[in-house]
Amino acid sequence: MAIKQNSVVTMHYELKDASGEVLDSSKGQEPLVYLHGASNIIIGLEEQLEGKVVGDNINAVVQPEKGYGVPVEALVQKVPTEAFGDEIDQIEVGMRFQAETEQGPVPVVVTAIEDGIVTVDGNHPLAGKELHFTCSIAEIREASGEEIEHGHVHGPGGHQH
Ligand code: ZN
Repeated sequence: MAIKQNSVVTMHYELKDASGEVLDSSKGQEPLVYLHGASNIIIGLEEQLEGKVVGDNINAVVQPEKGYGVPVEALVQKVPTEAFGDEIDQIEVGMRFQAETEQGPVPVVVTAIEDGIVTVDGNHPLAGKELHFTCSIAEIREASGEEIEHGHVHGPGGHQH
């Protein structure tokens, strides 16, 4: 059985950046279980897993356009320190929090604090990065009708309703 639309795929993976630094890995943890063709994982990886079978080891390089996107300047905001009130004492570079926006809460990271301005970046931390995946396919099965309807996997490694 090969990976295709509506396959439930169980795999181990490792993600590195272009310099070889490990960004994420399922090593020592439960494998990743996802529903193929339902945007559970980034499109660039999904495309390269199509047609693979159990036991396959895949090296997939994904460009930002098919990964976490390219950084968008509009998602970088400069906020006066006064806007944080007393909480400014707890704000530091590298800190992550949810910013309230007109589009709802957005996860941001503080990238700079200087001259009374806090710079926060709402881009995905992996935006703009070339992603190097190594995947090993452990299991493939057909999704149930309910899983296809929900757009995610149920049971072990999946959604627990
Ligand atoms: Zn569900």
